[in-house]
Amino acid sequence: MLDELQVRPGEPARLAERETKSRLGLGEKSDGYARLAELQEQLRELQAHLFGESRRSVLLILQGMDSSGKDSTIRRVFEGVNPQGVWVRGFGRPEEAELARDYLWRVHRDVPRRGKIGIFNRSHYEDVGVVRVKELVPPEVWQRRYHHIREFERLLTDEGTRVLKVWLHISHEEQRARLQRRIDDPERNWKFEPEDIEARRDWPLYQAAYEEAITETSTDWAPWYVIPADRRWARDVAIAQLLVDTLTEMDPQLPPADPRLQGITIP
Ligand code: ADP
Repeated sequence: MLDELQVRPGEPARLAERETKSRLGLGEKSDGYARLAELQEQLRELQAHLFGESRRSVLLILQGMDSSGKDSTIRRVFEGVNPQGVWVRGFGRPEEAELARDYLWRVHRDVPRRGKIGIFNRSHYEDVGVVRVKELVPPEVWQRRYHHIREFERLLTDEGTRVLKVWLHISHEEQRARLQRRIDDPERNWKFEPEDIEARRDWPLYQAAYEEAITETSTDWAPWYVIPADRRWARDVAIAQLLVDTLTEMDPQLPPADPRLQGITIP
Protein backbone atom coordinates (compact mmCIF):
# COMPACT_ATOMS: atom_id res chain seq x y z
CA MET A 1 0.00 0.00 0.00
CA LEU A 2 2.76 2.42 0.97
CA ASP A 3 4.74 1.80 -2.18
CA GLU A 4 2.00 3.36 -4.27
CA LEU A 5 1.68 6.29 -1.92
CA GLN A 6 5.37 7.15 -1.97
CA VAL A 7 6.55 9.84 -4.35
CA ARG A 8 9.49 8.25 -6.11
CA PRO A 9 12.60 10.40 -5.90
CA GLY A 10 13.09 12.22 -9.18
CA GLU A 11 9.50 11.72 -10.31
CA PRO A 12 6.81 14.43 -10.27
CA ALA A 13 4.37 14.27 -7.37
CA ARG A 14 1.30 14.88 -9.61
CA LEU A 15 -1.06 15.65 -6.76
CA ALA A 16 -4.10 16.17 -8.98
CA GLU A 17 -3.84 12.58 -10.22
CA ARG A 18 -3.66 11.10 -6.73
CA GLU A 19 -6.71 9.86 -4.88
CA THR A 20 -8.05 11.59 -1.82
CA LYS A 21 -10.84 9.19 -0.92
CA SER A 22 -9.25 5.78 -1.32
CA ARG A 23 -10.06 2.96 1.08
CA LEU A 24 -6.56 1.61 0.36
CA GLY A 25 -7.99 -1.87 -0.09
CA LEU A 26 -8.82 -2.06 3.60
CA GLY A 27 -12.56 -2.77 3.19
CA GLU A 28 -15.10 -1.13 5.45
CA LYS A 29 -14.51 1.42 8.17
CA SER A 30 -14.81 -1.26 10.86
CA ASP A 31 -12.08 -3.33 9.15
CA GLY A 32 -9.93 -0.22 9.09
CA TYR A 33 -10.38 0.36 12.80
CA ALA A 34 -9.54 -3.27 13.58
CA ARG A 35 -6.35 -2.92 11.56
CA LEU A 36 -5.52 0.36 13.27
CA ALA A 37 -5.81 -1.28 16.70
CA GLU A 38 -3.31 -3.97 15.66
CA LEU A 39 -0.90 -1.41 14.31
CA GLN A 40 -1.17 0.72 17.45
CA GLU A 41 -0.21 -2.29 19.52
CA GLN A 42 2.85 -2.91 17.33
CA LEU A 43 3.77 0.75 17.39
CA ARG A 44 3.60 0.79 21.18
CA GLU A 45 6.07 -2.08 21.40
CA LEU A 46 8.45 -0.79 18.73
CA GLN A 47 8.44 2.64 20.28
CA ALA A 48 9.32 1.19 23.69
CA HIS A 49 12.35 -0.47 22.08
CA LEU A 50 13.38 2.72 20.31
CA PHE A 51 13.17 4.50 23.66
CA GLY A 52 15.15 1.79 25.44
CA GLU A 53 17.80 1.74 22.73
CA SER A 54 18.11 5.56 22.78
CA ARG A 55 20.49 5.70 19.84
CA ARG A 56 18.23 6.76 17.00
CA SER A 57 15.02 8.70 16.43
CA VAL A 58 12.18 9.06 13.95
CA LEU A 59 10.80 12.34 12.67
CA LEU A 60 7.32 12.36 11.15
CA ILE A 61 6.56 15.57 9.29
CA LEU A 62 2.88 16.32 8.65
CA GLN A 63 1.83 18.84 6.04
CA GLY A 64 -1.53 19.49 4.43
CA MET A 65 -4.14 22.15 3.72
CA ASP A 66 -6.24 23.54 6.61
CA SER A 67 -8.54 20.84 7.98
CA SER A 68 -6.59 18.04 6.27
CA GLY A 69 -6.37 16.32 9.66
CA LYS A 70 -2.89 17.03 11.01
CA ASP A 71 -4.12 17.36 14.60
CA SER A 72 -6.43 14.38 14.54
CA THR A 73 -3.79 12.16 12.93
CA ILE A 74 -1.51 12.87 15.87
CA ARG A 75 -4.30 12.22 18.37
CA ARG A 76 -5.42 8.95 16.82
CA VAL A 77 -2.30 7.24 15.51
CA PHE A 78 -0.38 7.66 18.75
CA GLU A 79 -3.21 6.59 21.06
CA GLY A 80 -1.72 4.34 23.71
CA VAL A 81 1.92 5.08 22.88
CA ASN A 82 3.97 6.12 25.91
CA PRO A 83 3.78 9.95 25.86
CA GLN A 84 7.33 10.15 27.23
CA GLY A 85 8.63 8.65 24.01
CA VAL A 86 6.83 11.07 21.72
CA TRP A 87 7.67 14.66 20.97
CA VAL A 88 5.12 16.89 19.23
CA ARG A 89 5.92 20.33 17.90
CA GLY A 90 3.65 22.63 15.89
CA PHE A 91 5.05 25.38 13.71
CA GLY A 92 2.82 28.44 13.37
CA ARG A 93 3.73 31.90 12.17
CA PRO A 94 7.33 32.54 13.17
CA GLU A 95 7.89 34.69 16.21
CA GLU A 96 10.26 37.62 16.34
CA ALA A 97 13.14 35.53 17.68
CA GLU A 98 12.60 32.99 14.90
CA LEU A 99 12.36 35.58 12.13
CA ALA A 100 15.65 36.97 13.38
CA ARG A 101 17.38 33.72 12.33
CA ASP A 102 17.46 31.53 9.24
CA TYR A 103 14.27 29.55 8.61
CA LEU A 104 15.77 26.20 9.63
CA TRP A 105 16.93 27.41 13.02
CA ARG A 106 13.63 26.83 14.84
CA VAL A 107 13.18 23.50 13.13
CA HIS A 108 16.61 22.11 13.86
CA ARG A 109 16.38 23.24 17.48
CA ASP A 110 13.30 21.07 17.95
CA VAL A 111 14.19 17.80 16.23
CA PRO A 112 13.55 14.76 18.46
CA ARG A 113 16.14 13.48 20.89
CA ARG A 114 17.54 10.00 20.38
CA GLY A 115 15.00 7.42 21.47
CA LYS A 116 11.97 9.51 20.54
CA ILE A 117 9.45 9.75 17.78
CA GLY A 118 9.16 13.41 16.89
CA ILE A 119 6.05 14.71 15.15
CA PHE A 120 6.06 18.02 13.34
CA ASN A 121 2.65 19.59 12.82
CA ARG A 122 3.76 21.82 9.91
CA SER A 123 7.47 22.34 9.46
CA HIS A 124 10.14 23.96 7.29
CA TYR A 125 7.88 23.15 4.33
CA GLU A 126 5.85 26.23 5.26
CA ASP A 127 8.95 28.14 4.19
CA VAL A 128 8.47 26.98 0.60
CA GLY A 129 4.64 26.73 0.90
CA VAL A 130 2.78 29.60 2.54
CA VAL A 131 5.86 31.79 2.28
CA ARG A 132 5.84 31.32 -1.49
CA VAL A 133 2.09 31.71 -1.96
CA LYS A 134 1.93 34.86 0.16
CA GLU A 135 5.12 36.18 -1.46
CA LEU A 136 6.78 36.74 1.90
CA VAL A 137 10.19 36.36 0.28
CA PRO A 138 11.23 36.75 -3.40
CA PRO A 139 11.30 33.64 -5.65
CA GLU A 140 15.09 33.37 -5.69
CA VAL A 141 15.01 32.99 -1.91
CA TRP A 142 12.45 30.18 -1.66
CA GLN A 143 13.77 28.41 -4.75
CA ARG A 144 17.19 27.81 -3.27
CA ARG A 145 15.60 26.40 -0.12
CA TYR A 146 14.87 23.04 -1.79
CA HIS A 147 18.59 22.46 -1.85
CA HIS A 148 19.00 23.44 1.81
CA ILE A 149 16.10 21.21 2.82
CA ARG A 150 17.40 18.14 1.00
CA GLU A 151 20.79 18.57 2.62
CA PHE A 152 19.35 19.34 6.06
CA GLU A 153 17.31 16.14 5.96
CA ARG A 154 20.41 14.28 4.79
CA LEU A 155 22.27 15.56 7.83
CA LEU A 156 19.49 14.40 10.15
CA THR A 157 19.45 10.99 8.48
CA ASP A 158 23.22 10.57 8.61
CA GLU A 159 23.16 11.40 12.30
CA GLY A 160 20.51 8.84 13.23
CA THR A 161 17.09 10.38 12.58
CA ARG A 162 14.74 8.66 10.14
CA VAL A 163 12.76 11.35 8.35
CA LEU A 164 9.26 10.55 7.05
CA LYS A 165 7.17 13.17 5.29
CA VAL A 166 3.44 12.98 4.83
CA TRP A 167 1.16 15.14 2.70
CA LEU A 168 -2.41 14.71 3.93
CA HIS A 169 -4.25 14.82 0.64
CA ILE A 170 -7.86 16.03 0.86
CA SER A 171 -10.22 17.15 -1.87
CA HIS A 172 -11.44 20.71 -2.30
CA GLU A 173 -15.00 19.53 -1.53
CA GLU A 174 -13.98 17.69 1.64
CA GLN A 175 -12.25 20.83 2.86
CA ARG A 176 -15.43 22.81 2.26
CA ALA A 177 -17.44 20.40 4.41
CA ARG A 178 -14.85 20.39 7.20
CA LEU A 179 -14.49 24.18 7.31
CA GLN A 180 -18.29 24.55 7.31
CA ARG A 181 -18.46 22.19 10.31
CA ARG A 182 -16.01 24.44 12.12
CA ILE A 183 -18.47 27.28 11.67
CA ASP A 184 -21.62 25.32 12.48
CA ASP A 185 -20.43 23.26 15.44
CA PRO A 186 -19.80 25.37 18.59
CA GLU A 187 -17.30 22.75 19.81
CA ARG A 188 -15.21 23.41 16.72
CA ASN A 189 -15.61 27.19 16.41
CA TRP A 190 -12.26 27.83 18.03
CA LYS A 191 -10.53 26.07 15.14
CA PHE A 192 -11.86 28.46 12.55
CA GLU A 193 -9.81 31.41 11.43
CA PRO A 194 -11.04 33.89 8.80
CA GLU A 195 -7.67 33.44 7.03
CA ASP A 196 -8.72 29.86 6.30
CA ILE A 197 -11.13 31.28 3.70
CA GLU A 198 -8.28 33.21 2.12
CA ALA A 199 -6.12 30.08 1.95
CA ARG A 200 -9.04 28.16 0.45
CA ARG A 201 -9.39 30.81 -2.25
CA ASP A 202 -5.70 30.27 -3.01
CA TRP A 203 -6.13 26.46 -3.12
CA PRO A 204 -4.60 26.05 -6.62
CA LEU A 205 -1.59 28.13 -5.64
CA TYR A 206 -0.98 26.02 -2.52
CA GLN A 207 -1.44 22.77 -4.43
CA ALA A 208 1.06 23.93 -7.05
CA ALA A 209 3.56 25.08 -4.42
CA TYR A 210 3.37 21.80 -2.50
CA GLU A 211 3.41 19.71 -5.62
CA GLU A 212 6.70 21.32 -6.56
CA ALA A 213 8.12 21.16 -3.03
CA ILE A 214 7.26 17.47 -2.74
CA THR A 215 8.75 16.71 -6.15
CA GLU A 216 11.92 18.61 -5.32
CA THR A 217 12.45 17.09 -1.90
CA SER A 218 11.33 13.47 -2.10
CA THR A 219 14.67 11.73 -1.70
CA ASP A 220 15.88 8.20 -1.03
CA TRP A 221 16.73 9.19 2.52
CA ALA A 222 13.62 11.27 3.27
CA PRO A 223 10.74 10.28 1.00
CA TRP A 224 7.33 11.92 0.77
CA TYR A 225 4.11 9.95 1.07
CA VAL A 226 0.87 11.38 -0.31
CA ILE A 227 -1.81 9.92 1.95
CA PRO A 228 -5.47 9.95 0.87
CA ALA A 229 -7.07 11.80 3.78
CA ASP A 230 -10.77 12.29 2.99
CA ARG A 231 -11.49 9.16 5.04
CA ARG A 232 -9.97 9.58 8.46
CA TRP A 233 -9.71 5.89 9.25
CA ALA A 234 -7.85 5.05 6.02
CA ARG A 235 -5.50 7.96 6.64
CA ASP A 236 -4.76 6.75 10.17
CA VAL A 237 -4.12 3.17 9.07
CA ALA A 238 -1.73 4.32 6.32
CA ILE A 239 0.31 6.49 8.67
CA ALA A 240 0.39 3.89 11.45
CA GLN A 241 1.55 1.34 8.87
CA LEU A 242 4.27 3.71 7.68
CA LEU A 243 5.57 4.09 11.22
CA VAL A 244 5.38 0.37 11.98
CA ASP A 245 7.17 -0.56 8.74
CA THR A 246 9.88 2.02 9.33
CA LEU A 247 10.48 1.00 12.94
CA THR A 248 10.40 -2.68 12.06
CA GLU A 249 13.10 -2.06 9.49
CA MET A 250 15.13 -0.02 11.98
CA ASP A 251 14.78 -2.89 14.45
CA PRO A 252 15.68 -1.02 17.65
CA GLN A 253 17.33 -3.18 20.27
CA LEU A 254 17.06 -2.91 24.02
CA PRO A 255 20.53 -2.61 25.57
CA PRO A 256 21.93 -5.95 26.80
CA ALA A 257 21.48 -6.72 30.48
CA ASP A 258 24.40 -5.96 32.79
CA PRO A 259 26.11 -9.32 33.48
CA ARG A 260 26.18 -8.37 37.16
CA LEU A 261 22.39 -8.84 37.21
CA GLN A 262 22.84 -12.59 36.81
CA GLY A 263 21.24 -14.44 39.67
CA ILE A 264 20.73 -11.38 41.91
CA THR A 265 17.80 -11.62 44.31
CA ILE A 266 16.65 -8.40 45.88
CA PRO A 267 16.75 -8.86 49.64
P1 ADP B 1 -2.83 25.44 12.92
O1 ADP B 1 -3.58 26.38 12.00
O2 ADP B 1 -2.05 24.40 12.16
O3 ADP B 1 -3.68 24.86 13.99
P2 ADP B 1 -1.40 27.76 14.00
O4 ADP B 1 -2.69 28.53 13.95
O5 ADP B 1 -0.55 27.83 15.21
O6 ADP B 1 -1.67 26.23 13.66
O7 ADP B 1 -0.46 28.27 12.83
C1 ADP B 1 -0.59 27.90 11.54
C2 ADP B 1 -0.40 29.08 10.61
O8 ADP B 1 0.96 29.50 10.65
C3 ADP B 1 -0.71 28.66 9.22
O9 ADP B 1 -1.51 29.62 8.57
C4 ADP B 1 0.66 28.56 8.58
O10 ADP B 1 0.65 28.74 7.20
C5 ADP B 1 1.42 29.64 9.32
N1 ADP B 1 2.86 29.45 9.25
C6 ADP B 1 3.58 28.38 9.66
N2 ADP B 1 4.89 28.53 9.38
C7 ADP B 1 5.01 29.71 8.75
C8 ADP B 1 6.10 30.43 8.20
N3 ADP B 1 7.34 29.93 8.23
N4 ADP B 1 5.86 31.63 7.65
C9 ADP B 1 4.61 32.13 7.61
N5 ADP B 1 3.52 31.50 8.11
C10 ADP B 1 3.71 30.31 8.67
